[in-house]
Amino acid sequence: MAATICSHIEAITDIRYPERRVCEECAKIGATWVHLRTCQTCGATLCCDSSPNRHATKHAHASGHPVIASAEVGERWLYCYPHDAFAEY
Ligand SMILES: [Zn+2]
Ligand SMILES: [Zn+2]
Ligand SMILES: [Zn+2]
Repeated sequence: MAATICSHIEAITDIRYPERRVCEECAKIGATWVHLRTCQTCGATLCCDSSPNRHATKHAHASGHPVIASAEVGERWLYCYPHDAFAEY
């Protein structure tokens, strides 16, 4: 994956971490998830694209919030949907 930095990722100075280690949307409907992502605009914690409901991607498209971070322990990266940009931090 190319280490392209976009303006959205460059604008992030403080990484937002999950308050609770659950997908907020899956928790409401009793669904399961694989990995967690945290929206860097509103702080919502949602599930990844390997999860059945792909809530992080749905949230990004519905809200226009561009950047998510991995909420997995040991993973330190950001991803921007509109630019398809990925950066480690
Ligand atoms: Zn971007
Ligand atoms: Zn979910
Ligand atoms: Zn958001």
